[in-house]
Amino acid sequence: MSTVRPTHWPMSQFPIINDCLHIGGIPLTQLVTRAGQTPFYAYDRRLLDERIALLRNRLPSAIQLHYAVKANPMPAVVQHLANLVDGLDVASLGELSVALDTGMDPAEISFAGPGKRPLELTAAIAAGITINLESAGELERVAQLGYEQGQQPRVAVRVNPDFELKASGMKMSGGPKPFGVDAEQTPMLLKRIKQLDLNFRGFHIFSGSQNLRSEALIDAHDRTFELALRLAIDAPSPVQILNIGGGFGIPYFPGDTPLDLEPVAANLEHWLPQIKEQLPEAHVVLELGRYLVGEAGIYVTEVVDRKVSRGHTFLITNGGLHHHLAVSGNFGQVVRKNYPVVVGNRVAGTEREVVSVVGPLCTPLDILADRMELAKAEVGDLIVVFQSGAYGLSASPARFLSHPACVEVLI
Ligand SMILES: *Cc1c(COP(=O)(O)O)cnc(C)c1O
Repeated sequence: MSTVRPTHWPMSQFPIINDCLHIGGIPLTQLVTRAGQTPFYAYDRRLLDERIALLRNRLPSAIQLHYAVKANPMPAVVQHLANLVDGLDVASLGELSVALDTGMDPAEISFAGPGKRPLELTAAIAAGITINLESAGELERVAQLGYEQGQQPRVAVRVNPDFELKASGMKMSGGPKPFGVDAEQTPMLLKRIKQLDLNFRGFHIFSGSQNLRSEALIDAHDRTFELALRLAIDAPSPVQILNIGGGFGIPYFPGDTPLDLEPVAANLEHWLPQIKEQLPEAHVVLELGRYLVGEAGIYVTEVVDRKVSRGHTFLITNGGLHHHLAVSGNFGQVVRKNYPVVVGNRVAGTEREVVSVVGPLCTPLDILADRMELAKAEVGDLIVVFQSGAYGLSASPARFLSHPACVEVLI
């Protein structure tokens, strides 16, 4: 039996020179001046390039890559990725406008999400993007709005599969769900799409997020392809898009190890000939969010106080859960665990100590690191949270407690 405590996967994507973290070749201390303030987020475009190159290199070349914009909607990031991926997936009118501004071909943009408003549907139809239908009611609204505009809307059916992605960080399928049309109701919807003469593009089958286990992804892909082949029998026209979701995870917490792409790629390779034969016009699409951007970003905040309370040392920073809800453990975590955190301007340091790092908000939820061993830090030192490129600023309650806004830079 091992008593070794699990540790964080090493964060080797940012070099450390003279004990200072470097981002895009810039020492962190200089980057603070460039950003103009703490706290801030920094994203490294070289790491975005490398991640796409890794996927292109490992996955079968027929697999298309889409970026799920909600992971990080900073326009500069979306623009950068738009030049590297095959399509963009959006979930609101705001994201749609960022996606269209990149110059991405509207035919390669899709719009998913329950509760799309008529205004959003109208804009999507006018832009000529693909609407991933989430219900029978939405189908009727899209058809009516298309008729009124004199346009034939492009639609795909988002299917709520009859299975779940195992060991997923966030389950989004199987059982009753607000997302997608139940697999068993899909044939009826497909008949209605034909009756209403909409431009049918294909299927969107997304079964979950943040998966680090290749066996679970392989299992989900197997069931997704089987389901798509079954549903395609009732399709009003040949399937052109088969979006099999994403779900690729990144190592956040002690004990997490990176996803092994090799077996996932091999399984896709195994399926492609059969898909080609049975759905000859279909492009197989993987839609990835955090896997593309998560590891390329850091959150940087400054120590404004240090204090000892009953033997426990606290570092208090000028940033917290109002900018980075996920690091506090309040973005879907069941049990709070620490993200990888360092003192960015003295990574190893001369002395080490066990501390808790907390934000400035008057709530016990505002924790950035709970009893972690870090270099001994003083007021003015920089706390860096790794794995912060996805679901950071835009996924946080920025107005809670009315502190100053955070900024973002793409390096
Ligand atoms: C959120 C979301 C994604 C991205 O999930 P990640 O875990 O960031 O990869 C992909 N597709 C859909 C439909 C989503 O809702």
